[in-house]
Amino acid sequence: MRLLVSLFLILISAKGFSQETFMRTLKLMGSRYEITVVANNQPESEKFIDMAVNEITRIEKLISEWDPNSQTSKINSNAGVAPVKVDPELFHLIERAIQISKITDGAFDISYAAMDKIWKFDGSLQQMPDEETIRQSVLKVGYKNIILNKEDGTVFLKLPGMKIGFGAIGKGYSADKAKDFLMKEGVVAGMVNASGDLNCWGKKSDGKPWLVGITNPLNKNKVFSWFPIENSAVVTSGDYEKYVVLNGKRYAHIIDPRTGYPAHGLTSVSIFAPNAELADALATGVFVMGIEAGLNLVNQLKGIECVLVDDQGKIYYSENIERKTKEQ
Ligand code: ADP
Ligand code: MG
Repeated sequence: MRLLVSLFLILISAKGFSQETFMRTLKLMGSRYEITVVANNQPESEKFIDMAVNEITRIEKLISEWDPNSQTSKINSNAGVAPVKVDPELFHLIERAIQISKITDGAFDISYAAMDKIWKFDGSLQQMPDEETIRQSVLKVGYKNIILNKEDGTVFLKLPGMKIGFGAIGKGYSADKAKDFLMKEGVVAGMVNASGDLNCWGKKSDGKPWLVGITNPLNKNKVFSWFPIENSAVVTSGDYEKYVVLNGKRYAHIIDPRTGYPAHGLTSVSIFAPNAELADALATGVFVMGIEAGLNLVNQLKGIECVLVDDQGKIYYSENIERKTKEQ
């Protein structure tokens, strides 16, 4: 009996050590997601990853501006007409998005979405939109016209034709929520990576921290910095995947909501933050703000760091970044 007990204990501890890192890649929210969990075995990891997928799909249904049945679409179709009652979850997400608009001076703005009709990044845009059209489109943009009513739990877009969209914050938010879900389920470690917007917790099964490599978009195959991260998020916004070329000039899919023109000057912005939602929104905001104003903002925010690459390939770091470089 005694032998059995000790054998059992040995087995338990061996099992403890035998945890492995499992990953699944799939398309969610129109993007490539990589979900990684540390688990005891393959079937257990599949079960956990399925849970994360369900959670992300649930969020997509709430925030999608393409799905005509989503609460977000209801808000949009009632712009200028009536306030729409939404789930507290969506209400609070919009509330936090507005906070980020305030700290970025409107550079990040979920109401940018009214300009979607003008700047198309699917190849259909053949010539530069004319100035007047751009000027008109900006009139429908402005977070100050998103009216939240806390008591009723409603969201109202004041102007007809206004629209909100979560393209610059939704992936980060979904990574946070999937992480929270898995942590509550007892998953000791993992990473949710939504096309470069990632959040992680715990350590890899070999006991080492998760490593995030930052690449220079102008030389994509070369990682110029490796950062060990623990229980935190990193998000990169770049103009190198989604853009349109007009008259030989590249226009990024990140648009300055104040002018209606695509942001320029930076090629990539990586933000390190406690959560991916904030990192995602700030990456977009800093992209619009540019090097000087962007660095200035990040340097004032506690617990937030950044790495910027400008369109000449020059790299900038925020003041306190702890850089562990490992050239490859
Ligand atoms: P990525 O898609 O590369 O992760 P972002 O997180 O920066 O990049 O999101 C870019 C998307 O956000 C755009 O495709 C668009 O849907 C939306 N967007 C563009 N400009 C803004 C802006 N100034 N504020 C908020 N959302 C924006
Ligand atoms: Mg973003």
